[in-house]
Amino acid sequence: MKNISIWKDTVKEKEYPELNENKEVDVLIIGGGITGISTLYNLSNTNLKVMLVEQNKIGMSTSANNTGKLNYLQNDLLDKIRTNFNDKTAAKYIKSQQDAIEMIADIITKENINCDLQKVNASLYTNEKEEVKKIKDLEKFLKKMGIKVEKVKKVNIVKSKYMIEVPNTYTFHPIKYVYGLLKNNRFPIYENTSIKRIEKKQDYYICSTDKYKIKSKWVVIASHYPYFNIPYLFPIKASLEKSYLSASKTLARPISLISYNKPTISIRNYKDCLIYLSNSHSLNKHICAKENFIELQNKLKNLDLKPDYLWSNIDIMTNDGLPYIGRLKDNILIGTGYNTWGLTNGPLAGQILSDIITGKQNEYIELFNPKRINLTNILGIITNVYKNISGFIKGYLVRNNKVTYKKIDKQKVMIYQDKKSHIVNRKCPHFGCGLVFNEVEKTWDCPCHGSRFDLDGKCTMSPSNHDISIRKK
Ligand SMILES: Cc1cc2nc3c(=O)[nH]c(=O)nc-3n(C[C@H](O)[C@H](O)[C@H](O)COP(=O)(O)OP(=O)(O)OC[C@H]3O[C@@H](n4cnc5c(N)ncnc54)[C@H](O)[C@@H]3O)c2cc1C
Repeated sequence: MKNISIWKDTVKEKEYPELNENKEVDVLIIGGGITGISTLYNLSNTNLKVMLVEQNKIGMSTSANNTGKLNYLQNDLLDKIRTNFNDKTAAKYIKSQQDAIEMIADIITKENINCDLQKVNASLYTNEKEEVKKIKDLEKFLKKMGIKVEKVKKVNIVKSKYMIEVPNTYTFHPIKYVYGLLKNNRFPIYENTSIKRIEKKQDYYICSTDKYKIKSKWVVIASHYPYFNIPYLFPIKASLEKSYLSASKTLARPISLISYNKPTISIRNYKDCLIYLSNSHSLNKHICAKENFIELQNKLKNLDLKPDYLWSNIDIMTNDGLPYIGRLKDNILIGTGYNTWGLTNGPLAGQILSDIITGKQNEYIELFNPKRINLTNILGIITNVYKNISGFIKGYLVRNNKVTYKKIDKQKVMIYQDKKSHIVNRKCPHFGCGLVFNEVEKTWDCPCHGSRFDLDGKCTMSPSNHDISIRKK
């Protein structure tokens, strides 16, 4: 059994150089996930000088660890938007997702991208009596929008009291898609290049790595969790959700299912494997990854499945249910907060952000305005502050019996011993939270903001942009 995502294990990694000099460009894109690469792709037909920097490896962060569904029937999110806004806004959001799916399918055809695209109806189900009414109500709403919704009788994999399905949705291989967008790329891309500071000058920005400076007229922040707190306080205008995933070899037929409510169960097939996601939770809760993986494995056992892959992933949940995509200030743009639906929202952000840069109209600019203020956003801040504090405290309280905790030169360190001794700093460089050991994936994880580090302390997932390796004196 492997502890990486099936997507990472089924591609040959692309290699890009590290930045080794100062640069001057029109547009700097920070982050090489599906958002950053889609923005780069959309700017390829302009005369602009564009450049992308990635802290680690292109396409290997959140975008490499999901279930790979292109779906507009997005569990309870549609109802969250209906409640926090209104039916008109929810209808517009659904249309944005349908447009994104169509756009992605068109790009796959146009660029001849081999990313195992599979057209499959998407189902939404519940086995809770109280939720049946909610799905029936959603069904009515979707039908009113002209969407063909069918009631599904029974699927063996899950127990359900009520299940509906919609057409024109897909599954695909997310990394193969991201790599496919780069087939004819002509812009420079740099890996292992982390932006540590963005400074506004007269009519341009200076973005600095540890060694070099990039002067740019436009800056696109496509870094998933924005590592800066001020301005706009993103860390408390959103929270994080973690889920546990598996892929097991079986005679899977084409399928795409998701449960209505939390903790989410999400299922799809990929070739001869069944991908099964469960145990989603707010990042600060249930911080022992091993227990969550055991629960997931028990669920698989009940289905007579044995996992060939096990991995976890984290996404950003906005307080009001809509993503944050658009202009932050002047020429700084952002695309984040996709509520676990970034395979549609990332490419959509790529379209919206490139339209803003090139001065084109886009019907979704207002809908996703990242500076919007509403009551849900404000009230959610209180809960998010609590989540941050709780993650911070738990990180220092939870101890793993496979890890030695001690102080070396006044630094709190953690030591994990296998064939060699892995010594790392206990404190997350991003916000100072206590890191916890993820025994299954062999990583050090932050229970506040989701940064992750490999055994030797190299940061593999933002928002941290520093490692936790101990410098030997
Ligand atoms: C369990 C799970 C299942 C999911 N399943 C689905 C699904 O089926 N369908 C769907 O639509 N969505 C799904 N999602 C959501 C989707 O995977 C994400 O929303 C999406 O991948 C986010 O893409 P991104 O480009 O914004 O972020 P990322 O892929 O995380 O890319 C951001 C990049 O920025 C880099 N970076 C960060 N800071 C810096 C810096 N300072 N300098 C340079 N680079 C930096 C990072 O290293 C990273 O590579 C799922 C999410 C989860 C958690």
